[in-house]
Amino acid sequence: MTDKIYYHNDFAYTVLLENELINQMLNFCRAKMPLETGGILVGEYSENALSARIMYISGPPQDSKHRTHEFYRGTHNLESLLSDFWEKGLFYLGEWHFHPKASPNPSLVDRKQMRKISNGNNYNCPEPILLILGGDPNEKWHISCSIFSNKHGWIELMEDR
Ligand SMILES: [Zn+2]
Repeated sequence: MTDKIYYHNDFAYTVLLENELINQMLNFCRAKMPLETGGILVGEYSENALSARIMYISGPPQDSKHRTHEFYRGTHNLESLLSDFWEKGLFYLGEWHFHPKASPNPSLVDRKQMRKISNGNNYNCPEPILLILGGDPNEKWHISCSIFSNKHGWIELMEDR
């Protein structure tokens, strides 16, 4: 299995996701089955800002709320985590979460939350990435990758095979 690359035919965005991070996501999902879980994405952008490399995936902050069809990602310790990364030149890139036994497509609520992040200035991230892992982490699962641009809206990327 090689690292995953997500891309779009009309927009120049690409997102690189290492296998090691997918394994970490799967482990976070297994630990919370059958509830949703998630965390944040940290990494770096290419110089032209069109390509993002995800380099770190967090688990759920302590004050997160896990339900079967809902995940509220808490904020405990996130600020200090991000400022540590900032010193190493790494940034908040977006969010990931788990849809247990369901499709990885972003729900309406997911899209609304991402628009809020894109338009807000809490994370200083106008084009956040959303990764959703859907399915069963022990059997068959899929990952969707979207970008929420304050200019172009919701952009679904495709997986390069
Ligand atoms: Zn969701």
